[in-house]
Amino acid sequence: MIKIYSTLTRQLEEFKTIEPSVVKWYNCGPTVNGLMHLGHARSAIAFDTIRRYLEYKEYKVVYVMNFTDIEDRMIEVAKREKRAVLEVAEEYLSYFRRDMASLNLKEATVHPRAMLHINQMIEFIEGLIEKGYAYESNGDVYFDVRKFEEYGKLSNQKLENVLQEGTADTKNPNKRFPADFALWKNEKPSEPSWSSPWGKGRPGWNLECSCMSRIYLGDTLDIHSGGQDLIFPHHENEIAQSESLTGKPFANYWLHNGYINIDKEKMSKSLGNYVNIVDLLQYYSTDAVRLFVLQTHYRSPIIFTEDAIDQAQITSDRLFDVILLTKNYATETTVDKSALSDLDKDLLEKITKAREDFVKAMDEDFNTSNGFAVVFDYSREVNDYLRKADKINGSVINKADELFDEFRSVFGLYEDFNNYLSMDLVEKLVKLLVEIRGEYRKEKNWEMSDKIRD
Ligand SMILES: [Zn+2]
Repeated sequence: MIKIYSTLTRQLEEFKTIEPSVVKWYNCGPTVNGLMHLGHARSAIAFDTIRRYLEYKEYKVVYVMNFTDIEDRMIEVAKREKRAVLEVAEEYLSYFRRDMASLNLKEATVHPRAMLHINQMIEFIEGLIEKGYAYESNGDVYFDVRKFEEYGKLSNQKLENVLQEGTADTKNPNKRFPADFALWKNEKPSEPSWSSPWGKGRPGWNLECSCMSRIYLGDTLDIHSGGQDLIFPHHENEIAQSESLTGKPFANYWLHNGYINIDKEKMSKSLGNYVNIVDLLQYYSTDAVRLFVLQTHYRSPIIFTEDAIDQAQITSDRLFDVILLTKNYATETTVDKSALSDLDKDLLEKITKAREDFVKAMDEDFNTSNGFAVVFDYSREVNDYLRKADKINGSVINKADELFDEFRSVFGLYEDFNNYLSMDLVEKLVKLLVEIRGEYRKEKNWEMSDKIRD
């Protein structure tokens, strides 16, 4: 039985889906106005792994992740770079897709884009106005937060506190109440705009997710997820919009991942202390980055240091060696009917135990940190067996290999494994050289590193 910590109830809850064995999941995707950095990657890898685990547990996961291509921050970048918003979106979107693939993140079932759903957004707003939850004011449309009694339930705060926190834009004369938020924004010069019953303008960012999740997944989702920074106001506002319109719960489980910190500050693009994935992957393997992220539970903060990621690379390489060795034995030997030795029997027991322990760890709010501890222990045991056994039993080592495959499928590790096995000697040597070059670069030995590259 899977237990999930939901931000909405602030406790662990038994996971029950609306439809049996189907998970309807909406994850707030990135605003595509820059390169993918480690902060994005942390969130993406954490949720990709949870999704993989649910699939391992035989759920069919319908995973929807939007790309925000029209929003204030998109317009800022377009203005700065003196380009059209669409052009900026297309460019960064292609980089995002490239970086997501290199982190071995599974494609979403659907990747909706806001600009392609403007008409449905307008209909959504009209519905809210009809029900008395929204009002037009000088070409803008606002959500009337005082009409939604449960406003603040996700971020666990009362309306008075929302105002005290200073998050509400108090100076806007078009609003009836300072905490009201925009569903539709009146056209401004040199900004993209669409026709609407309230004149030309564009949708508010919060509305985009409420509308697109409903189009692809229906009124109630099983899981809604995103970074902790989205709890308020973004997800709070999504709840207000969706529940006011449909009268139904918007999402049954709210999952939020923790931050990644460099020098103890929240890592984000605005602070400038970010590491771009494309740069990071010059020095570290995809597996090292995934392992680095997943060694911490998804809700806890991660502190990024060069030492920590170096260590993750070493750990990942060691784990790979054991898995490769196991795979080699398993490929060479298949059916084996010879009598089992004590070592064989012992390993079989350990395989069963490791699988149980792994599931237990992951069932508890997807504790990848404990899950990895199981994998490391297990790899030591398999390694011991390989060293000590006089004769490797084919059936036993095949079972050991199968469990490694299961772990790899959940953590998304060593996906290029089969390629590696089928590589010829020259390719393996090239790979080795690339690794050695990486080592030199890490030691900042540029001379040797450049020599190898040339
Ligand atoms: Zn969102």
